[in-house]
Amino acid sequence: MNTITNNILADQFGRVHDYLRISLTERCNLRCFYCMPEEGIALRPRSQFMAKNEVIEIAKIFVALGIKKIRLTGGEPLVRNDAKEIIEELSKLPIELAITTNGILVDKFIDTFKACNLNSVNVSLDSLQEKKMNAISRRNYFSTIIANIHTLLKENFHVKLNAVIMRGVNDDEITDFIEFTRENNAHFRFIEFMPFNGNKWDRSKGLSYKEIMTIVNGHFGEKVLKIEDKKNDTAKNYQIQGYKGTFAIISSVTNPFCDNCNRLRLTADGRMKNCLFSGTETNLLTALRMNKDILPLILESVWNKKEKRGGMVTAEDFSNPLLNQKNRSMIAIGG
Ligand code: SAM
Ligand code: SF4
Repeated sequence: MNTITNNILADQFGRVHDYLRISLTERCNLRCFYCMPEEGIALRPRSQFMAKNEVIEIAKIFVALGIKKIRLTGGEPLVRNDAKEIIEELSKLPIELAITTNGILVDKFIDTFKACNLNSVNVSLDSLQEKKMNAISRRNYFSTIIANIHTLLKENFHVKLNAVIMRGVNDDEITDFIEFTRENNAHFRFIEFMPFNGNKWDRSKGLSYKEIMTIVNGHFGEKVLKIEDKKNDTAKNYQIQGYKGTFAIISSVTNPFCDNCNRLRLTADGRMKNCLFSGTETNLLTALRMNKDILPLILESVWNKKEKRGGMVTAEDFSNPLLNQKNRSMIAIGG
């Protein structure tokens, strides 16, 4: 049966999609080297990006099709002048609303998050050392980010802290990151370094799930507890016995979680991506501006989603720059 005829976000492999990540902007107040090409990305005229009402209109169509969770991302979603209004409008939809941010502007948005029932906040934190964090992000906001993380924790938000683990950069801090969860009810997530346009990826620069767990087990031994992974979870979750928080590993490189994928993405310029790694996109914004019905475009894109990592099935495919560099840089996708 071809599910394109049904208003349900299902693909050929039986995966039903109920989670949409919307990128609000390609701009950012940090310059993390693993995310943005060294030369930056070309700034384009504002008219090429979704205006507030277009974000809301497209989101509503997705929600009518079965989307139950929306996470705002970017670039840095909170640098947008109308971020507050977008959050307020989206919070009126029957969805769980969440955000991924670098944390710099969080203090300005705490009241909005609370008023809008936005309880799940992911913050990037690649080092607990000021000098190193500032070197990775090529900016000096470490103390603001840390202060805002503590504010979120104090205010009882569900806080996930994302660290991309890179060899010789922050792999020496894995046990420190976990120590942070001893007294803080935070959820550290170690992300395998992924290839995107311009980030000079090669497999040896990142640590694998296995390598990370060897370090963790070597240090914490029998105190490492495997805890439940939720349905559609991209992370393998753990906790150290007696610690308040947890930690997890997101292994898109060595152990992809495509079988249970329920995610779709909308870029800031209104392109739909059916997979983080897809080399192709569907231009919803232009169609919307031409008053075309975007619903069939969405269904077709979902239906054509590849079984694994945008079609890069094997480890060799994934390491092939001709394939993995066809994708945008992470900042332009919306992580
Ligand atoms: N600015 C926000 C932030 O930093 O959290 C949201 C956007 S950022 C692109 C979203 C996530 O993508 C961050 O957690 C970041 O660490 C992750 N990310 C960016 N480039 C990556 C890469 N090459 N490999 C793995 N994760 C990456
Ligand atoms: Fe900006 Fe987030 Fe990318 Fe860092 S990871 S450059 S904070 S979008």
